[in-house]
Amino acid sequence: MKLDLKIQPLSSWITAKAQPLLIAGPCSAETEEQLVATAHLLAATGKVTALRAGIWKPRTRPGEFEGIGSIGLEWLKRAKAETGLPTAVEVATAKHVEEALKGGVDILWIGARSTANPFTVQEIADALKGVDIPVMIKNPVNPDLSLWIGALERVNNAGITKLAAIHRGFSSYEKTAFRNEPMWDLAINLKTHAPELPIICDPSHISGNRELIPYVSQKALDMDMQGLMIESHIDPSVAWTDAKQQVTPAALSELIDRLALRRPEVVNSQVKDALADLRNGIDKIDDLVIAKLAERMKIVEQIGNYKKDNGITILQVNRWDEILQKRTNYGKALNLNPEFTEKLLELIHGESIRKQTEIMNKGQGNAPVQEQLMHS
Ligand code: PEP
Ligand code: MN
Repeated sequence: MKLDLKIQPLSSWITAKAQPLLIAGPCSAETEEQLVATAHLLAATGKVTALRAGIWKPRTRPGEFEGIGSIGLEWLKRAKAETGLPTAVEVATAKHVEEALKGGVDILWIGARSTANPFTVQEIADALKGVDIPVMIKNPVNPDLSLWIGALERVNNAGITKLAAIHRGFSSYEKTAFRNEPMWDLAINLKTHAPELPIICDPSHISGNRELIPYVSQKALDMDMQGLMIESHIDPSVAWTDAKQQVTPAALSELIDRLALRRPEVVNSQVKDALADLRNGIDKIDDLVIAKLAERMKIVEQIGNYKKDNGITILQVNRWDEILQKRTNYGKALNLNPEFTEKLLELIHGESIRKQTEIMNKGQGNAPVQEQLMHS
């Protein structure tokens, strides 16, 4: 399903200083000196397009530093005047929007916790009615694509057309190497729903530590994301928030230098032809796979009718075990990952059972009762 978003291209509201498009700055504005000095160093790299800084900070526990507040807007103004960098801040309430607009902020973003709450998003959207400002929307903390889409729609419905999404990873109970699981599929899924929507990756909040940022940044570029938002602090070791994941402007510059920029569109015509040939091959095989699956389903239907006429249960566990075993071994011999083969077979088998259940229940007024069998 394609989303009906009315959005302007990224280039209409931000001009990248260099590739990749980079938004950088401290997690939080702490003091005027810290913010302005960081901004100068970032601008001097020639790689940073916009300056980010949180001035209202969503903190998990009370009593932690909750942001410097509106005074930070004055510091951002000074940083912009001295470096020429447009500024970006997080807004979480209508009041934040009002103050940020009054304070001359160039770009707003909605944080992950806010995106998870439709009341908050609607309040922000209402405050943005009639305003022409770019808004970036981070994914919600929980891995729920609809919430992310819903927030984009609410803000877009308020008339904001300079819109981007920010992928910052998702909370998970299980602790892994990442602070927030990237779950790239979700971001890719958003891209298929709204191909024209720019997605910017925030490797800092995905990683939670400096060491992983280069890896996540490269992966984001390889996934064809349109830019990066990376937290940078003049002295990360003493940062008031997110100290472990911030990098100095110099480290940021080196990190960016080491990224490989690969193009989604191929320019070299020889490469283009070779790629087109290979893709043709894939398309043909995909068509065959679909046709064969349809053929398989026809046979499944015949079996369903036969089982119904003869009073045989839909699932015979032995038969299913045998299919799974044989096909997984066959796949293994052909170099297919057994996990992949198993998943694929389960999907096909699930659909076959659904089809046969439909046949069995036809004319009997039974609700589908095969759920248990599918999982047995
Ligand atoms: C931030 O950007 O500093 C921030 C609070 O991010 P998130 O909303 O992704 O947690
Ligand atoms: Mn942060």
